[in-house]
Amino acid sequence: MDRSRAELISARDTNIGLLKVRRSLPTRARRNVGAWCFADHLGPLALRPGERADVAPHPHCGLQTVTWLFEGEFLHRDSLGSEQAIRPGQLNLMSAGRGVAHAEEDPDQFGHRLHGIQLWVAQPDATRCGPADFEHHDALPRVELDAGVATMLLGTLHGVSSPARRDDDLVGAELQLSVGTSVLEASELYEYGVIGIAGEVLVDGAMVVPGSMAYLAPGRGEVVLTALNSATVMLVGGVALSEPLVMWWNFVARSRDEIVAAYNSWSARDERFGPVVSRVSPIDVAPPAWLARGS
Ligand code: MN
Repeated sequence: MDRSRAELISARDTNIGLLKVRRSLPTRARRNVGAWCFADHLGPLALRPGERADVAPHPHCGLQTVTWLFEGEFLHRDSLGSEQAIRPGQLNLMSAGRGVAHAEEDPDQFGHRLHGIQLWVAQPDATRCGPADFEHHDALPRVELDAGVATMLLGTLHGVSSPARRDDDLVGAELQLSVGTSVLEASELYEYGVIGIAGEVLVDGAMVVPGSMAYLAPGRGEVVLTALNSATVMLVGGVALSEPLVMWWNFVARSRDEIVAAYNSWSARDERFGPVVSRVSPIDVAPPAWLARGS
């Protein structure tokens, strides 16, 4: 592979309940970018009066959820007792550790728009079995680019750091680009993904649009982005993981036994994940296929 060129990866269309999303991670072509192991791009979509895009209570372990909106609003509720509205430009960061449950309620029933992305970061061994935690950041630091502005969700770009908790060596930023070329300083230790949200952006020969992601292998000192029109992309990057993740449903682990233990705890509603106060009923799923097969 020519490591100086970007590899273009197509998102796959899937559903979260009734909501259509474009999933850039994981795909067959690429399971993760650094510790970033999941990316669902929702919308933009218009809901009619009476339609609500609720995500019912469900569990997580071994990961951080990074929730970011471009339009609309959600109400986050979790089993730690957090109740937090999130609006565009704000960050909800939930660290699941050994276990947490949450719901994302759509507070608007009068017709509205929604557009956002949810990313997951796999937690390292140091924290993935530890206590759960939730952070909300009302406003985040920004970096002026040659033709645009970056908002720092996690980590550091051009010397500007997000205050949000970071368990691993990684970066996450929203890039709002105007027509022209922006050169980002990159870490040669990081691999990067550039996820299309709106508009068209050339990333080292790859045309990134909504539904695609450019993957950049480690070893480059800069990332060059050329926006052909007014565009938004998410930049994710980090040191490549040294061991494979085992992901199933909403759980990130290192073995199937860990997944089964999490599944059993949620099914039994034991104390591991805890209850969520929500007007929506919790989600249950069928057991993992390999468990049903008895293999
Ligand atoms: Mn969730």
